[in-house]
Amino acid sequence: MTKAAHYHEESAQLSLSFDTVPRSAGQLLPALQRLGLKGITDCRVTNNRAVMVSYGNGVLRIHSAYLSAPDEVLRSIVRFVCARTRAEGRQARKILLAYCLPAVDRAPRRRPVALRPGDSDLISELALWHHEYNARFFKGALKSIEIRISHRMRRRLGQYTAASTDGEPAEISISRSHVSKHGWSDVLHTLLHEMVHQWQAETGCRLGHGRSFRNKAREVGIAACACREVQRPATKACQPEIELVTRVALSA
Ligand SMILES: [Zn+2]
Repeated sequence: MTKAAHYHEESAQLSLSFDTVPRSAGQLLPALQRLGLKGITDCRVTNNRAVMVSYGNGVLRIHSAYLSAPDEVLRSIVRFVCARTRAEGRQARKILLAYCLPAVDRAPRRRPVALRPGDSDLISELALWHHEYNARFFKGALKSIEIRISHRMRRRLGQYTAASTDGEPAEISISRSHVSKHGWSDVLHTLLHEMVHQWQAETGCRLGHGRSFRNKAREVGIAACACREVQRPATKACQPEIELVTRVALSA
């Protein structure tokens, strides 16, 4: 079973100190074990903004903001994982989220984009197709949206990120390697897939690949699933490419 403390659920305040020397990821598990952590054999540090702490199957996943947390907060991680009552778990979670909200908010949410040669043309072309598909499949109801080319996405083809509560606009990212390796029609398929997520967000549907996604995907004529096979160079084994909605998007 996996339990998670979700980023957006609490807004409790706690006076904080940010001048603690950060631990390394390798120092975190021993530090927690010294404070009484049991049943965890592996600790992974993440930068997932939606789930700050989660655990399951002996693995603790924890946001990097906790690397500089004082012992008082680390004790709450131990209490969160080892809670014997719901009240104890709730109290620990409150402290964890109170610590993490300001710490995470100090960091920029999205990395600034450095455009590479060809990106601007690609973005303009995709924006034209967004306009075209919006008229053709969504009666022009979708908002215009920022489109980005990601040079980091390898396994994913594209991603929709909903607008954040702190004012960052929604965006659609398309993987540059997807554009290079696969045909343009596959790229447009991905764009339309992400536009279905945009439609979900703008019409109040839950983001993801559930029923509303499947129904709309069928309606606009694309694969009604999260993953799909794409054409790959003949020399490589055919593996499905994975597309996922970020947890940030899911929680927004
Ligand atoms: Zn998707």
